[in-house]
Amino acid sequence: PSTLYIVATPIGNLGDITLRAIDTLKQVDLIAAEDTRHSGLLLQHLGIHAKMYPLHDHNEQQKAQQLVEKLKLGASIALVSDAGTPLINDPGYHLVKACRKERIKVVPIPGACAAITALCASGLPTDRFCYEGFLPAKSKARIDYLTKLLQEPRTVVFYESTHRIIDSLNDMLDVFGEDKSIVLAKELTKSWETIIELPISQLIIWLKEDPNRQKGEFVLILEGYHKTNDEELDPAAIKLLNRLQQELP
Ligand code: SAM
Repeated sequence: PSTLYIVATPIGNLGDITLRAIDTLKQVDLIAAEDTRHSGLLLQHLGIHAKMYPLHDHNEQQKAQQLVEKLKLGASIALVSDAGTPLINDPGYHLVKACRKERIKVVPIPGACAAITALCASGLPTDRFCYEGFLPAKSKARIDYLTKLLQEPRTVVFYESTHRIIDSLNDMLDVFGEDKSIVLAKELTKSWETIIELPISQLIIWLKEDPNRQKGEFVLILEGYHKTNDEELDPAAIKLLNRLQQELP
């Protein structure tokens, strides 16, 4: 009673739902969903007949308050999004914040998340990484944003859509240079799952070679910035070393 469950659902392969997620979806009084039609198909597949409640990004703040009122009256509610973990580039933030403020119990039911799924198979360092979600839609803003990441030492994870994959990679090429290598993970857990690492310029060529490669859902992962040997020392130290070298026999 009076519990909000944050339930992760699959990002493609319907087998990627946990037993706990299924149990929870069966038990709750109401399922709040980003898109009730989309989640309805998953529930149908799982044989679950539940009452649903729409919670889009654009009406979340107002709807969240209505859900909080139901929770206060003792309802149990599960929040799901179209794919993966709710709140990770999906609605739910206002609802969770409101619940925690009202001291309503919030229980996470973990599962698939595209960022983590891609990262763990990328071959890039995973000890420290940052999640950058979607880049800005306009090129100027995107380039400014990417420029700020030029010296980011952590592995950087982005989400990208089929509409902008080429434009975003072109801007990455401008900012990071053609040799910077990048991991593209597309259609994770689905039949056409592809995880490929190439220098940015070659990745663009690879995508353009076959228009089908530009379709689907993408995670892009960049290796963090590491100083090269030349840059490791500050300029004053390099100058001193050069002078010492001249003095030495
Ligand atoms: N909540 C989701 C999660 O936990 O990953 C993310 C939702 S966000 C609106 C959708 C984006 O996630 C897509 O544009 C893509 O970048 C990424 N994504 C989702 N499913 C994916 C998949 N199967 N393969 C690759 N990327 C995926």
